[in-house]
Amino acid sequence: MSNENQTIHEFDLNIIYDYFGNTERQGPGSPEITLKALSFIDGLNAKSKIADIGCGTGGQTMVLAQNTASEIIGVDLFPEFIKQFNQNIQKQNLQDRVKGVVGNMEDLPFQEEELDLIWSEGAIYNIGFERGLSEWRKYLKKGGYIAVTENTWFSEERPDEIQDFWQEAYPEIDTISNKVAQMEKAGYLPMATFVVPEACWTYYYEVQHPQMQESLLEKEKYKSNKSAEDFIAYQRYEAELYHKYKEYYGYVFYIGKRIK
Ligand code: SAM
Repeated sequence: MSNENQTIHEFDLNIIYDYFGNTERQGPGSPEITLKALSFIDGLNAKSKIADIGCGTGGQTMVLAQNTASEIIGVDLFPEFIKQFNQNIQKQNLQDRVKGVVGNMEDLPFQEEELDLIWSEGAIYNIGFERGLSEWRKYLKKGGYIAVTENTWFSEERPDEIQDFWQEAYPEIDTISNKVAQMEKAGYLPMATFVVPEACWTYYYEVQHPQMQESLLEKEKYKSNKSAEDFIAYQRYEAELYHKYKEYYGYVFYIGKRIK
C-alpha cells in the first residue's frame, strides 16, 4: 500500500473536500473544549472582532458565536467549506455579525491591530505553529488574545514508528514546553495550555471517520477509485497510529496574550 509513504498534502483537494465537507467539524475538538478555551479570554463584547482561521465548515465558530456578542470572521482556503459555513450561519440567524470568507492564512484579509481574538482549531499546522504565531500577531490589538490547538508530543521520548510518521507529516510537532517557549518568543504571554481530551480524538476517529468513509464511497465518482481508496487507507492508518500511541501525543490548546 502506498499510504504509508503519502502525506495528506499529496491528495486531490476534491477528495479532501468530499470527505471532510460532510461533517460538522474537520478535526478533533468539541463544544465543551472550545468553551473551556474561551473561558481564558477576558474582555470580549459586542464591539470586539474575532477571526477564526482555518474555520472549515464552522463547528467551533458556531460555539464562539453563541457564547460571545462579538463580530466573527471565519477564514478558510476552501470555497466549499465557506459556502457550507455561511449556510450554517444563516440557519442559526447569525449572519448579522458572523461571516465566512475565502482566504489564505498566509496572507490574511485583516488590518494591523484590527482583531481582539484570533482563534484556530486544528489548522495552524498548515502555516506552521511558529510562523503562524509570529505572522498573525500584527493583526491583534495589544492585549488581544490568540487561542490555537496544535499537535504536541506529551513526552521527550517515543517509539520510532510514531516519531517517523509525524516527522514526515508534521516536522514541527514538539513538546508542550518547547511550544510554550515558541509562543513567548513570538511575543505572547502564555495564559493557559491544556490537553484536548482523548475522547475528542476517539469520537473523531471512531465515529466521524467511519461515517465520512461510508459517504465518500457511496458517491458514484469514488467507486473503485484508487485515489479515494488510498485516501481512506491513509485516514485509517493515522487512526490506527493514534490508537496505538495516544499516550505520546495529541492536541494541546495554547492560549496567549499579545504583550508587545
Ligand atoms: N477549524 C476546523 C475544525 O476544527 O473543525 C477545521 C480544521 S481542519 C483540520 C483544517 C482547516 O484548515 C481546513 O478547513 C482547511 O481547509 C483549512 N486550511 C488549510 N490550509 C489553509 C490556508 N492556507 N489558509 C486558510 N485555511 C486553510
